[in-house]
Amino acid sequence: MPGYEWIGETEKEQINEVLETGILFRYEFDKERKGVYKVKEFEEKFAQYTGAVYAHAVTSGSAALKVALAALGVGPGDEVITQGFTFLATFEAIIEAGAVPIPAEIDKTLNLDPDDFREKISDRTKAVIPVHMLGSPANIQEIIKVANEKDVKVIEDTAQALGAAVGGKKLGTWGDMGTYSFDFYKTMTTGEGGMVVTNDPDLYTRASEYADHGHDHNPEVGRALEGRNFLGFNYRMNEIQGAIGLAQLSKLDEMIERQHQNQELIREALESLDGIEMRDLPEKGKDSFTHVCFFVETGEKAVAFQKSLAEKGVPAVYFKNNLWHYLPNWEHLIQKKTAWQGPHPFGGPIYGRDFEYSPDMLPKSDAILERLLVMPVSLQMDEGRIRQIVMELQAVAEEVL
Ligand SMILES: *Cc1c(COP(=O)(O)O)cnc(C)c1O
Repeated sequence: MPGYEWIGETEKEQINEVLETGILFRYEFDKERKGVYKVKEFEEKFAQYTGAVYAHAVTSGSAALKVALAALGVGPGDEVITQGFTFLATFEAIIEAGAVPIPAEIDKTLNLDPDDFREKISDRTKAVIPVHMLGSPANIQEIIKVANEKDVKVIEDTAQALGAAVGGKKLGTWGDMGTYSFDFYKTMTTGEGGMVVTNDPDLYTRASEYADHGHDHNPEVGRALEGRNFLGFNYRMNEIQGAIGLAQLSKLDEMIERQHQNQELIREALESLDGIEMRDLPEKGKDSFTHVCFFVETGEKAVAFQKSLAEKGVPAVYFKNNLWHYLPNWEHLIQKKTAWQGPHPFGGPIYGRDFEYSPDMLPKSDAILERLLVMPVSLQMDEGRIRQIVMELQAVAEEVL
């Protein structure tokens, strides 16, 4: 699954170029850095890779979401719709921005259900965050159609699907803004890190200013004399991370291709079994092959299937019970336990109403996740290991399905 499996010489060479200048900061020090601007170069190459016009690097995928929300002006009093099946960070970023996350259902792509998204739109909906979970696209064209009709901004959380596409257009570049994560588990990694992309020059400028204490990045004056248009915060990526990003990006297509080969063998074996159904892929959609996701006939069979596989040393995740990726399991969100006192952002005078979460508010997602199993695909699975996984799958299917 992740780029950490392939950390090696390219990363070392890139990092050494930074260490030789001694400049770890992405801005200024123009004389001392001897032309080395790793974060800037990483942004340019990342934009090129995704096909976006602009890219701005930040400290994490969570920060990328928060910076994108700030760039769009989302804040207290606003609602942001997102799916209840995602990594918790999507919800946290909305709350950090002072807005209220409104949970919506998923469909069998395992991503935002466009019909339920339409249902959940209110007079306070400012933005929607479809998440491309587990390497595979949401029905993004449908989602954008609804969003445009209702004047809702779209941020694609592409933390788990860098390199995947619909109709040849990379995920993250369909909406107003796209965000990515380079944490240690993601397809490519910088240890920690993230990226925001957009085609809109104003959104790009706002994002780059917000992520750097409001600095307006005026090339005419020194950094200390730069102006500011609004208050920001610090989400700056450093040069070492930028260097690792460049190294990993140069291998990205090869990593995805290797995952593709590994995933295909497992997927073909699964497709040949009775009682198995694969996740939906949107028309002309291409995933980034980090996982194999499939449904069995019932929840009991899913649990039994996972248990038998685990006994044979083959991991599969039953996400319905996962503590970090599904809203009904987030008791602290449901109880609205923030780090501060009072009802903000879920209530209080600015929002002007009370939003209640409950573990049974997503019946359609429950029914989908009930029958879902997910197998991670690794870069380093060799032919022998894949053959073994395929054999165990067939044996367990015989026993359980
Ligand atoms: C990993 C992830 C994030 C957060 O990224 P970090 O870099 O870990 O902060 C956000 N959304 C999704 C869907 C993720 O998987």
